Amino acid sequence: TEEMIIRSEKLSIVGQLAAGVAHEIRNPLTTLKGFTQLLKAGKRNDAYIDLMQVELERINQIVNEFMVIAKPQNVELQQHDLYKIIDDVIQFMEMQAIMSKVEIRYNLIENVICICNQDQLKQVFINILKNAIEAMPSGGNIEIRMTCTEDSIGIQFFDDGTGIPEEILTRIGEPFFTTKETGTGLGIMVCHKIIEAHHGTMQIESELNKGTQIKIVLPNVDHSTEI
Ligand code: ADP
Ligand code: MG
Repeated sequence: TEEMIIRSEKLSIVGQLAAGVAHEIRNPLTTLKGFTQLLKAGKRNDAYIDLMQVELERINQIVNEFMVIAKPQNVELQQHDLYKIIDDVIQFMEMQAIMSKVEIRYNLIENVICICNQDQLKQVFINILKNAIEAMPSGGNIEIRMTCTEDSIGIQFFDDGTGIPEEILTRIGEPFFTTKETGTGLGIMVCHKIIEAHHGTMQIESELNKGTQIKIVLPNVDHSTEI
């Protein structure tokens, strides 16, 4: 049945990721172990504590992002106003945007009802906005647009950041693929998994030094269902 197929897919994703998580967490753990040994030997230094916090934060980020996929199955889908979801996310990200001199503009349609898991969709939009802000180190603009037809809802995110070189575009979304020094390389993969579970699609288009566009299409249906 469809449910069994989805279940087995989820298991294999978790299996693949477990190996990756173990690998990614080993480095910060080794560093932490080294510093605790130094501290135990009486070599006290505030810089050690700072570096330990950086490594702990890295582990924390990896575990947080991994949790989204490893969460219990059969996530409930309910009717939510997409406008409200996106508006909440924009408010949540506003501080980070302001501090990075990024302006978020949006043109949303009100009262578009979407069958979704609210927390998961918010996670998707947060991951996309974070990436966009991180791609504009000296500030810039983000634009969010919404379109709606009888059978689909489109949500587009535009940024005028660094863009993605063509040769790595196909690797974006691979677990742990990151170009950032402190990146986890899990954000886009999590987005893909969530959008897939919502029977939608997500596409990334990008031009180097021009910007990036991410388009999500969700089905416009009005019956409740479960994934
Ligand atoms: P992370 O942000 O931890 O690196 P993600 O999965 O969120 O992991 O993103 C993977 C990679 O995709 C990033 O390291 C970056 O190279 C690229 N990327 C994602 N979004 C954008 C964007 N809006 N602009 C430029 N590059 C992006
Ligand atoms: Mg990211």
